[in-house]
Amino acid sequence: MKLYNIKDNSEQVNFQQAVKQGLGRGQGLFFPKEITPLDNIDALLKMNLVDRSTEILSHLIGDELSKEVLHSIVSKAFTFDAPVKKVTDNINALELFHGPTLAFKDFGGRFMAQCLAEFKGDDKITILTATSGDTGAAVAHAFFNMENINVVILYPKGKISPLQEKLFCTLGGNITTVAIEGTFDDCQTMVKQAFDDQELKQAVGLNSANSINISRLLAQICYYFEALAQLSAAQRNNLVVSVPSGNFGDLTAGLLAKSLGLPIKRFIAATNENDTVPRYLEEGTWTPKATVATISNAMDVSQPNNWPRIEELFKIQGWSLSELGYGMLNDAQTRASLLELDNLGYLCEPHGAIAYAELTKQLKEDETGLFLCTAHPAKFKESVEDILGRDIFIPEELASRANLDLLSKEFPADFAMVRALLMSL
Ligand SMILES: *Cc1c(COP(=O)(O)O)cnc(C)c1O
Repeated sequence: MKLYNIKDNSEQVNFQQAVKQGLGRGQGLFFPKEITPLDNIDALLKMNLVDRSTEILSHLIGDELSKEVLHSIVSKAFTFDAPVKKVTDNINALELFHGPTLAFKDFGGRFMAQCLAEFKGDDKITILTATSGDTGAAVAHAFFNMENINVVILYPKGKISPLQEKLFCTLGGNITTVAIEGTFDDCQTMVKQAFDDQELKQAVGLNSANSINISRLLAQICYYFEALAQLSAAQRNNLVVSVPSGNFGDLTAGLLAKSLGLPIKRFIAATNENDTVPRYLEEGTWTPKATVATISNAMDVSQPNNWPRIEELFKIQGWSLSELGYGMLNDAQTRASLLELDNLGYLCEPHGAIAYAELTKQLKEDETGLFLCTAHPAKFKESVEDILGRDIFIPEELASRANLDLLSKEFPADFAMVRALLMSL
């Protein structure tokens, strides 16, 4: 697989290099040079998740990884289901939260960890990642106890849910977590600074596991196929998919799936009040505002770092951005949507509820809708219980960590301190 740096097309790498490097020169994102459509979609949709995903990933990655190795990577990474649940006659939910950390980021995080373990040989590497919650948990669990890999996770102090924090800040071992006095964007900026610091990068073998890593995007393509495999041919015919978006990795993966020939009619990019993209699509100007805290905090991102990939893909495919649906919900509207879903008998959480609300607004009569449920409701227990006025069930993965002590360090948003920490590991 050949990839190029969007910011500097002369920088070209293979899959292994892209996975290890994360970002290219000048913080440029890597993008596949060729996206050849699959010619056996119907046959693929009849396979099981692991076999089908192996085929799709092998098609994309090529002979850098043999099918046998890829099959073993995929079967270690995708150890859980992604069921489609019927919500109304023409709307379905794709539940992506049945992995070990109860969010869709388990797909990308676990696939990336397995790829890195395959590629790194005897080298020591340090994973540095910024999280607004779910990435951190997925990455921490995916790499926990892996040999010669240190993981450092930065997150905005007080801006992620307490249970969420317990999920990944209680592991210890090769996982170091740092609560930063600042926003998610501050954390992301420091990660970018670290990658620009050549001396640091060399010294610690720096690698990012953010959604900028191409391996995560490739893994996420697979669950769009899994969703369509569970729908009838009639439902697939006129399918609209609504994606709750923060850094826009999930939507990028969906658009890549469509580029591979998966029949998805159109997508809706649904955000919370951090609506840089909806405003951009509406007004044509890119004007990020300061990030605001919302109840869908995994999407509290005002400078979504995957957006350049989406623009690149639209350009390559000759699609117009006017074909992309969009919309944003404030917290009050998110609450109302969550209640509406509950009345329909579907327990959801704020991120999925945002995608659902935009879908109901934009779905036409003859279309089938699918919205992505990116996290288990229990991960957002406090707000879900507050909105519904009743207690909800907490699965064992979360319950078992709730009483453990937090092991996080606390830092101001000061790159020098993060740098010193990285050097000390
Ligand atoms: C990360 C996350 C999102 C946003 O996904 P992106 O790929 O960053 O757009 C949405 N919902 C939940 C629960 C998340 O953890």
